[in-house]
Amino acid sequence: MRLLIAMMKHETNTFSPVPTPLERFGHAPGPLYGEAAVAAYRGTGSGLGAYLDIAAREKAETVLPIAASASPSRPVDDAAFEHIAGRICEAVAKGGFDGILLDLHGAMVTESHADGEGELLRRIRALDPATPIAVSYDMHANLYPAMIDTATVVCGYRTYPHIDTYETAQRAGDILVRAIRGTAKPVMAWGNVPMLPHVMRQGSDDHPNRELQARCAAMAEEGALAASLFTGFPHADIANAGLSAVVVTDGDRDLAARLRDELLDRAWVEREAFVYKIEPLDAALGRAKAMPPPAAGEGPVVLLDHYDNCASGGTMDTTVVLAAILREGLDNVAAFAIYDPQAVQQAIAAGIGAPVTLSLGGKLAMPQIPGESPPLTVSGTVKTISSGRFRNKGPMQRAVMTDMGPAVVIDTGKVEIAVISRHVEPSDLNCFYSLGIDPMQKRYVMLKSRVHWRAGLGSLAKAVVDCAGIGVCTSDYAQLTFKNVRRPIYPLDLPNR
Ligand SMILES: [Zn+2]
Repeated sequence: MRLLIAMMKHETNTFSPVPTPLERFGHAPGPLYGEAAVAAYRGTGSGLGAYLDIAAREKAETVLPIAASASPSRPVDDAAFEHIAGRICEAVAKGGFDGILLDLHGAMVTESHADGEGELLRRIRALDPATPIAVSYDMHANLYPAMIDTATVVCGYRTYPHIDTYETAQRAGDILVRAIRGTAKPVMAWGNVPMLPHVMRQGSDDHPNRELQARCAAMAEEGALAASLFTGFPHADIANAGLSAVVVTDGDRDLAARLRDELLDRAWVEREAFVYKIEPLDAALGRAKAMPPPAAGEGPVVLLDHYDNCASGGTMDTTVVLAAILREGLDNVAAFAIYDPQAVQQAIAAGIGAPVTLSLGGKLAMPQIPGESPPLTVSGTVKTISSGRFRNKGPMQRAVMTDMGPAVVIDTGKVEIAVISRHVEPSDLNCFYSLGIDPMQKRYVMLKSRVHWRAGLGSLAKAVVDCAGIGVCTSDYAQLTFKNVRRPIYPLDLPNR
């Protein structure tokens, strides 16, 4: 057996000012190719790790032309997309494959295409109309017809935080192998409903997504080879942003359609539970301040700066929540993180232990978001200087290399502020440990995150307080001007009944 394996991942926030050149796709700088990609992902808890394990199990010869994954940001530069899609298509054009296994995000918008993945798959199919294709998509995929119709098998994550990237690709890959061997004839049904579930309400440990994802899993007992419910990514002003579902069965199109309809109906019934209610920042911090310090063995109170989550396209350099924490005098705080390569270099030049006064953050303009995020003047000492590279502890993307770029910690006396040079969401405890911070020793931890922080810290946190700040992944969807998303759509237009 001969398999083509590739990764192309980007979640595009069309409201983000953060550029998406080719250099962003990978572990500084740019994507990995061939054997280097295999070496980086073999044995990891990633989608590529699963595909490589399947290939090894099947004693398949593999070709891995490119592994390209970027942190969310504005639409992908055409040149970057052409390069990545081009490498994959070059390999497809050479031919001789029994199967194609793709690890894609499913919410990639490029400068020229609203559905980057659909465009990739169309190009593959134009070169090769027949070879079976398996695709693993993120739960935040915004599905377009070409993303499904061109594939043989599509599977989506069932967890948010995404701790089942490996299992999802494994499911897709295993079904594809059965199709190649002729022991299954996968058929799919997909569809969507006009709703934009709020990202803060999409966690798979919370109602209603917990029950919806459990239902997807249970459909295996009723003849589904795979059933996936995609909550979608709402910070994308494209026609098909929103919730969708895909069901794969073994040759039974009616069953696939029936199960798909059930998933979409269940999600629609729960639409009000997907709406998020915002607490003003002052009230939230007042509540946090009134909480007693953690007792022995208890973890920190998490202060969630959720408007500026880089894993949803945030600049990660807004300072409204951090400024309020400093102003309110909260003590024994760790903050992760402010993206500011310039401030990092200033701190490195000063050296460990040196006093510094930095103009922190507020450097990336956000023209599509109301409000100002000025730089914050911070004085402290340089506590840590790091390369910013570590392998994830897990459970999310276990053993995968993460690169924060050169990173420092500035200690103000009350607050330890991590400052980084590449966008990384604090989903893994090694974000802290690699910088010499033990979050369990802190009274408060400020995180620029929405749900993924729970993968590393969720079970340890004493409490979580959502802090409404400013940012392009704003939780106030009234701040976003949608021009292209299909209308009407809930909750932007449709009454709740
Ligand atoms: Zn996601």
